[in-house]
Amino acid sequence: MRRQGRRDTKPELELRRTLHRMGFRYYVDRTVLAGTRRRHDLVFPGAKVLVEVRGCYWHACPQHGTSPKANAGWWAQKLAANVERDRDTERRAAAEGWELIVVWEHDDPQQAAVTVATAVRARQAAQ
Ligand SMILES: [Zn+2]
Repeated sequence: MRRQGRRDTKPELELRRTLHRMGFRYYVDRTVLAGTRRRHDLVFPGAKVLVEVRGCYWHACPQHGTSPKANAGWWAQKLAANVERDRDTERRAAAEGWELIVVWEHDDPQQAAVTVATAVRARQAAQ
């Protein structure tokens, strides 16, 4: 399932464009983790780095997300399920040797690109 059916959001596109300009190549919207059909926004197979661009509201960002636990009701349950799924994705990625980098919607895409680039280069160099 696509995360909220949303992709190609503005922060995501800017991040992709910046990384591409920096000379990085990656897959977009790929499934890589065993036992799930979850798609990841950016996948660097050689370095085994995954990048997820998470919306502040839907993924309950620490700065802007409303706490799902603070509200009752269907939406709160949906948000809580999203957060739990994110945690599960993080566990699965780590178990399979992937580094998962979370980029929040509120992050500066240029800065996020540098973070991703640094991680990819470090893991390539370590191989
Ligand atoms: Zn945020």
